[in-house]
Amino acid sequence: MKSWWQRRSVRFRLALWYATATAVVLLAFAWFVYEVIEHRLGAEIDRQLRSDFDLVEAQVDLDAEEGARWNVHSPHGDETSPPISTWFEVWSQDGELLLRHWPVSTASTNNPLPPPRASTLKLTTVELGRDLLVRVMEGPGRVEGQSVLIRVFRDETEMRRTLGEIIRVSTLGFPLAVALAAIGGYLIATRSLRPLDAMARQARRISSESLSKRLPNPNPNDELGRLATVFNDTLVRLEASFAELQRFTADASHELRSPLTALRAVGEVALRDGNDPAALRETIGSMLEEAQRLTDLVDALLTLARMDATKADAAREEVNIATLLYEVRDQFEVLANEKCQTIEVTSDDDLTVQADRTLLHLALVNLVHNAIQHGPADSKISITAMRSARKIDISVIDSGPGIPGEYQEKIFERFFRVDKARSRARGGAGLGLAIAKQAVQRYGGRIVLESNSDRGSIFRIELKI
Ligand code: ADP
Repeated sequence: MKSWWQRRSVRFRLALWYATATAVVLLAFAWFVYEVIEHRLGAEIDRQLRSDFDLVEAQVDLDAEEGARWNVHSPHGDETSPPISTWFEVWSQDGELLLRHWPVSTASTNNPLPPPRASTLKLTTVELGRDLLVRVMEGPGRVEGQSVLIRVFRDETEMRRTLGEIIRVSTLGFPLAVALAAIGGYLIATRSLRPLDAMARQARRISSESLSKRLPNPNPNDELGRLATVFNDTLVRLEASFAELQRFTADASHELRSPLTALRAVGEVALRDGNDPAALRETIGSMLEEAQRLTDLVDALLTLARMDATKADAAREEVNIATLLYEVRDQFEVLANEKCQTIEVTSDDDLTVQADRTLLHLALVNLVHNAIQHGPADSKISITAMRSARKIDISVIDSGPGIPGEYQEKIFERFFRVDKARSRARGGAGLGLAIAKQAVQRYGGRIVLESNSDRGSIFRIELKI
């Protein structure tokens, strides 16, 4: 049942809902009207019966001349006044019919009713003949000082006819109203969903080559308009991601090509005129250097790809900051010594943070490596950790040339280098800061750069606690 329902189109389902709702409302309304009218008319007949009953008690008497003959006298004892039209019977207490007064139209109708036995007033509806439904009231009464049983009748046919009319009108109108609701619902749904069809057609045409296309959005304020807006926003982001991906692939290929070209060129030269073992050794040395550069680049690309692919917040552990900073310092001691630089660590011993240790280490390694590369010889590189109310800041401070204002945002982009040639000569592919930034962002931190061209750079890692 569920799958049948789900397989239907939305407009069909809406139309069916409209029709069902209309049917239920109409049925309830018709039933209510029927009940109210039946109750009203029934109450009116019962009221009339009661007044008939009183009338019979008042207008029936014993014919004095004829002895035991019961008679109906006119209201004023006046022979010209119209005879009583009430339809009634008067019975004695022991079941003998004393007087019967039936309208002419019912003269041929047999009375199937037994003598009344009611000791209290009783109301019933009986069928006296074909299509003749009468409401009967019977009960004890007093006529001429004698206790008798009186039974009065009222024809209910008219009332039944009225009620029948209601049923007939409802039965005829019901399918019409339901059909109208269904058709109306279907048309409204079709009209309302038309933009959706247009959107679906356009969405089908959008592929990776045509991401600049947008869905039509005639009314951004209605529900479908909001859907189109959200979809279009998604397309904007998707387009940007695709563009970034294409740029990244192009940059990566370009970066990979340079060491490969160098490798080939050096190899070809050595092959052509390489008889001197010393020269050959030198060639192999530079080939290995290029191979190392390739390895570094591929490693960096892999690191980025892995970070892109894994879920954020994957591994959190308690990391002691001082231990980590000393570890990084020890790791770079030799490199720093080559430039006669000193690395100074300032941190409270008990400072800890919940983070992925490997990623935090990776970020620091990239920052400290840059600081050593860009810091002048004989300079000091400081790594300081400070705790404030809401975060822990780890700053890597050097006294190098700093970064010009216009590049301060860009340097975190993949493959961006301020001075391409110099940077490449040092082996940098412009991925270090991108890796550091992404590594820190993985667990909700961020990297802020404070750079001043005369006083060097401060890269600050802010970690939430
Ligand atoms: P690379 O691996 O080429 O160094 P990075 O992403 O680490 O790439 O850095 C991007 C660019 O930012 C570098 O080319 C360099 O020009 C600049 N840069 C990074 N760190 C510093 C720093 N401490 N001082 C000055 N310039 C820096």
